Amino acid sequence: MQNVKGNTKTGEVKVRIINASRKLAPCPKCKIVSKRHSVQTRTLHEIGLSGPVTLEIVKSIHWCDACKKHFSIPLDHIAPPSGRYTNRVRRQAVALVVRDGMILANAAKYMKDKYFVNVPTTTLHQWLNDEGFRCKKKSEKRCSMKQ
Ligand SMILES: [Zn+2]
Repeated sequence: MQNVKGNTKTGEVKVRIINASRKLAPCPKCKIVSKRHSVQTRTLHEIGLSGPVTLEIVKSIHWCDACKKHFSIPLDHIAPPSGRYTNRVRRQAVALVVRDGMILANAAKYMKDKYFVNVPTTTLHQWLNDEGFRCKKKSEKRCSMKQ
């Protein structure tokens, strides 16, 4: 299910709502099918082609009676467990630096101008680090694979 609604306050931000809520889901630990306990909404920055896009993911929280623990449906295919950006944003920003050889500041500007996503250079730097690249932060020089 997807909805699009305008947000006049922030100037035509498209909000796409993705319903990832389930009544039942298997516990990731013991695989016992567990009932929904509650629902949460997670907001993520997504790549936009004609303007800023925000994803609102409605996800279910489940209670496993066997493990006596809460768990939520994994959304790894959309975004890492923590963070405010989708995998698409991360992949694209990293590719601008690694594949296209942009410096961090230029890649961040490109993401903003072309895809309407504001990715701070510190965040981009962290993503590159996570993927095994080393960048000279201060001089904003190009990044290279760690030796
Ligand atoms: Zn369990």
